[in-house]
Amino acid sequence: MKTKIVLLGPPGSGKGTQGEMLSQELGFVRLSTGDMLREAARNGAPLGLKAKEYMDRGALVPNDLIINLMKEKIKSLGEGTGVIFDGFPRTVEQANALGEQVNIDLALNLDVEDSELLNRLTKRRSCPKCNAVYHLDYNPPKKKNVCDKCGSELYHRDDDKEETVLNRLKVYRENTKPLIEYYEGKGTLKTVIGVGSIDEIYGEVKKTVL
Ligand code: AMP
Repeated sequence: MKTKIVLLGPPGSGKGTQGEMLSQELGFVRLSTGDMLREAARNGAPLGLKAKEYMDRGALVPNDLIINLMKEKIKSLGEGTGVIFDGFPRTVEQANALGEQVNIDLALNLDVEDSELLNRLTKRRSCPKCNAVYHLDYNPPKKKNVCDKCGSELYHRDDDKEETVLNRLKVYRENTKPLIEYYEGKGTLKTVIGVGSIDEIYGEVKKTVL
């Protein structure tokens, strides 16, 4: 089984949802840089406040900040721990830094077209406490605006508003999409079409890990 997994794919492609399902089922740790940065920003930590300036515009946080943050996280994991990297790496520089520390055995690329991504993100609602995500039409919470898992009030991320989403997609194409070729060159890339029901996609995702 693959135990060091990178999730690739544009914002809204389902990395968080599928990564969380995998980590639950396999007992792997899911490391989401986006979740970490948002939490740091909510707590008023210096790193979070700095990162927020970039996140609010849909820009990438500078490589050195992210690389240092992840270096520490990775060091704190046990040798044999299964890990799912969600939202990291997002640049070739980050991928090189990750490669120095961890032997990635699967880069799973979730492929979804832009029109679908825009719909998903503008109608996404997120839980600030447990990071669960919902979609107003496809995957609504049982009670309006309340997280099924922890009961917190859901919110619409600032960077999920249309104008910022369009910038995030541009940033993805320019900086992160080249990682598809990068991991293809290493022989670890697998692509799953990220369209269909969450369970259908998960079925395909699981096949790539086993
Ligand atoms: P996400 O939750 O993965 O969509 O990330 C939200 C935002 O956090 C991104 O738009 C970036 O501003 C920032 N971010 C998350 N991960 C990274 C990363 N690996 N490199 C640079 N910025 C990141």
